[in-house]
Amino acid sequence: MATRKEGSRGSVIIAGAGLAGLTAAKELCDRGYTPTVLEERNVLGGKVAAWQDDEGDWYETGLHIFFGAYPNMLQLFQELGIRERLQWKKHAMIFAMPQAGRFSRFDFPNLPGPFNGLVAILSNSEMISLPDKLKFGIALIPAILKGQDYVEEMDNLSISEWLKRRGAPPSIEQEIFIAMAKALAFVDPDKVSATVVLTALNRFLQEGDGSKIAFLDGAPPERLCKPLVEYIEARGGRVLLNRPVERIEVEENGLVRGLRVRGIRDPKTGEMQQTVTMKADKYISCVPVHIFKKLVQACDFVALPPLTARSAPDPQGVEGWNLKTMPVINLHLWFDKKIDDKMDQLLFSRSKLLSVYADMSNSCREYHDPDRSMLELTRRRYSPLTCLAGEYEDWIGRSDEDIVSATMKELEIFFPEYFGEGAANPIRLRKYKVVKTPLSVYWSRPGMQKNRPSQVTPISNFFLGGDYTFQRYLASMEGAVLSGKLVAEHLSVRFLSSSPYSPSSLLPPPSPSPPFLP
Ligand code: FAD
Repeated sequence: MATRKEGSRGSVIIAGAGLAGLTAAKELCDRGYTPTVLEERNVLGGKVAAWQDDEGDWYETGLHIFFGAYPNMLQLFQELGIRERLQWKKHAMIFAMPQAGRFSRFDFPNLPGPFNGLVAILSNSEMISLPDKLKFGIALIPAILKGQDYVEEMDNLSISEWLKRRGAPPSIEQEIFIAMAKALAFVDPDKVSATVVLTALNRFLQEGDGSKIAFLDGAPPERLCKPLVEYIEARGGRVLLNRPVERIEVEENGLVRGLRVRGIRDPKTGEMQQTVTMKADKYISCVPVHIFKKLVQACDFVALPPLTARSAPDPQGVEGWNLKTMPVINLHLWFDKKIDDKMDQLLFSRSKLLSVYADMSNSCREYHDPDRSMLELTRRRYSPLTCLAGEYEDWIGRSDEDIVSATMKELEIFFPEYFGEGAANPIRLRKYKVVKTPLSVYWSRPGMQKNRPSQVTPISNFFLGGDYTFQRYLASMEGAVLSGKLVAEHLSVRFLSSSPYSPSSLLPPPSPSPPFLP
């Protein structure tokens, strides 16, 4: 049995020490429960995990940025007493231009939203002409008039289809939405739900600081996850690494009896741990959706169909959710000199391969180097080979050398002064690290919003968290944190409720539906 400290309202086991699992544990501590988090790997953070190489340089699963429109994440920083660890950048969005060495900026003045956004858009004339801006404004009218309900209804369309249907000029997709779709979801605009992109746009426009960007001041496992663990442990909870959950054990009455944890060799002591079934009053899965699917396949409860609380119960159960994860590649390039010491921002690449990148030697305090740049870049699995739709080059199986060399070619376009044959100020790549995650973020495809499961399940002692579960944010750190808060809240309600369980009474309360613009 998971330990329950004296006076605790109950014990809870959580599978997965990503941001969702750790936030759920923190929130449960705040509510008087005793959580135990079981993490498969020997590192905290899941998709924000990071490691140090032999020289002490950090490399990460992904380049992570925080937005002003992340209320739950900001509150978490506040409650952990680490707000100063967010390094806020000047309020601007910077896009690489197709012309070599040129960047275009949207600078947000210090005005309330949406006026600062409107000024930023109107004062940039390099990327979109005034007539095209006006046409885009007209395309947005139904979203402005009907608000978030309209945005939700658009989920069956990709953002590309939505722009065409609304008569937005092609330049809008070309100049803005390719970069936005790649930055938000690592895919092209024809492969991401319109709801997801419009929701982000809505928040960016509505909230004065919504699109303001912050970098964490160091590696997420140390600077964000560790304070979470300290908070949890100070309140009687536990976070155990190297504890892979391999099976959810179910009683005949359909309740979860325990989580079976596979015995593995302890990497520190070399000791072989025993396979055990860990038991608690309630259980939460905060593992990624593809892992959860495997756990469900491995257990007897194919009787899970009504888990899809958002839409009608699907006889195929978890399979019927049809939620997929996407591969993402994260690159780290260490150079022998500084590229441009003013580049202290996230840059939207708009290139074939890259989504976003930053010079972390400028943007992140712990990675600071006054003399040498370190670029961190995220890129997609596929890159278009030609302009013809459907012809894509798959990069996930390619060697690190191939990936780095293709990336260096793209850098020649962004920084001709430093890279390529004619470089006036040539710069040498000192070392690199490529982190490939073949099954990574949940893919916000068109039509999937209704399939995202609620945090409550029909099994009264079993709950779900994770960025893929339904909440108003897409698969992001904010989404993961919000799902952790929601699952703790639902669990607490169910603990307190003496009435027989009724799924509809425990569905997440409808989130307030903000207007598209104030
Ligand atoms: P995860 O982080 O996947 O956590 C799940 C945990 O479960 C992991 O620790 C995993 O090891 C563990 N686990 C798996 N199987 C088992 C098992 N059998 N037993 C026990 N534990 C198990 N979001 C942003 O907001 N801003 C960004 O800039 C941003 N950039 C990103 C860049 C990249 C390259 C990637 C990949 C993601 C990015 N994201 C970004 C998304 C964000 O990282 C995720 O949405 C969020 O971290 C997901 O958290 P989670 O807890 O839901 O899942």
